[in-house]
Amino acid sequence: MTVLEGPSIPATTPSEVAGFIARDHGLLIAGQWRPSSGGRTVVSVNPATGQPLATLAAGERADVDDAVAAARAALADPGWRDISPLQRGELLHALADLVEAHADELALIESLDNGKPVSVARAVDVGTTAKLFRYFAGWPSKFEGSTIPISPRGGLRVLNYTVHEPIGVVGAIVPWNFPMSMAAWKLAPALAMGNAVVLKPAEQTSLSTLRLAELIGQAGFPSGVVNVVTGLGSVVGAAIAGHGGVDKVAFTGSTAVGRLVTAAALGNMKKVSLELGGKSPHIVLPDADPAAVARAACDGIFFNQGQTCTAGSRLYVHADIYDEVMSALIDEARRIVVGPGHDPATQMGPLVSASQLDTVGSYIESGLADGAELACGGSRPAGLGAEYADGYFLEPTVLTETTHAMRVVREEIFGPVLVAMRWTDVDDLIDKANDSPYGLSAGLWTNDLTKAHRIAAAIKAGTVWINCYNLTDPASPFGGYKQSGWGREMGRAVLDQYTETKSVWVNLT
Ligand code: NAD
Repeated sequence: MTVLEGPSIPATTPSEVAGFIARDHGLLIAGQWRPSSGGRTVVSVNPATGQPLATLAAGERADVDDAVAAARAALADPGWRDISPLQRGELLHALADLVEAHADELALIESLDNGKPVSVARAVDVGTTAKLFRYFAGWPSKFEGSTIPISPRGGLRVLNYTVHEPIGVVGAIVPWNFPMSMAAWKLAPALAMGNAVVLKPAEQTSLSTLRLAELIGQAGFPSGVVNVVTGLGSVVGAAIAGHGGVDKVAFTGSTAVGRLVTAAALGNMKKVSLELGGKSPHIVLPDADPAAVARAACDGIFFNQGQTCTAGSRLYVHADIYDEVMSALIDEARRIVVGPGHDPATQMGPLVSASQLDTVGSYIESGLADGAELACGGSRPAGLGAEYADGYFLEPTVLTETTHAMRVVREEIFGPVLVAMRWTDVDDLIDKANDSPYGLSAGLWTNDLTKAHRIAAAIKAGTVWINCYNLTDPASPFGGYKQSGWGREMGRAVLDQYTETKSVWVNLT
């Protein structure tokens, strides 16, 4: 049995990780670590035990002012402003090397702070972070402007060309579900394009970002290029979103907070990009292999405890194979090993917080009250040790006999709860799949090429996966239709989100 010590750290934790977690964590402003100007702190909790894990500085508006001033100074610093595109790429490569070298340490920090299985943290969170810095390291020397074949009046000879310039100070606000990699989604393109950043991690899960910030310094980025202000969203996040010295805000989080960020950004008309919530349809056609689909549907929803913006949370199975798929899926769901994230046997960890567990629990109750049937899960898993009695664990849960009138079908639950429905008519299926304020992603299982392309074209979502689910890559654009967001991250598409394009006219007459 694992013995937990002091601030909820397993006894098996390597000393460099335990020592890092046990520090009093400060804010990173202009290359210096310092306490919050108000002296206040916020506690980060280990979701497996419900016990305090670490103490973080709770930043204030004045700290955001200082961080923005530091970022602005960094933009004017020749050590950042005047370095060549290749040098910027080298810094990003150095950072990717450091993330890879510290992968085990970063994965364990992420797992203890967020609750996710350490294997997921290692492969997905840390793996994606390194890959993002590596991919965007190539762009500074390749993101070219154009020479434009214009047609001026009056026989003028004019050269017209475009250049891409950094936007300036980027405020990045990120959620708790993939803490470090969500930060990297913003940092990698922002730094590749020569911006300076004020980053606010989620208050529940700031530790991996703080360690990443140390590695950013070690990689050689000049002071002030990346500043990190931890603390509450209503204080630090709101101050960044409304700050007159921030030129762009890049937000990932809930649609409700995305609206607040957008309203706050109007003051100085800062550029806004948003990655928001989802309620993604996962669609199964009658020719699909029921066993393969059952496994994929389980992964699609239960991966990361269901706390994934792209979670395949609405399952639509053709009536011909519904019973077979659901029976296999429920067997799969019951086999998932739920436990503390640091245990290598764990496949699904606890939810991130007590409030998230409450929210998800009340959704399950609302579904049952509305007439849904509980096919599996819905409770705290049995057999967890006494040290995990206050952890935020929930069994993988499947609700059947659900309809589009129910809140569990219409709203994002953001937990390990799948709602399943039968379908027979393809046009009705497409209407149902699109009957959502969200449009982040969708999945589709069939070998019928014609139907696959027809349905993919009809779905209003930024990503459609056919015979796969939840794949992302730094090279492929990602983002939402409808209320799932504004703009695209990743790939070439994101570079426009982190640059201004200047059109230069030269009279050659
Ligand atoms: P959240 O909106 O509650 O918080 C996100 C961030 O915003 C946190 O750092 C928080 O402190 C901050 N914040 C809170 N109030 C703020 C305010 N008034 N002004 C500025 N910032 C504020 O979201 P969450 O609960 O951390 O994350 C879950 C949500 O994120 C889900 O809806 C999920 O779908 C979404 N998400 C979307 C994507 C995507 O790429 N589309 C990815 C991950 C998560």
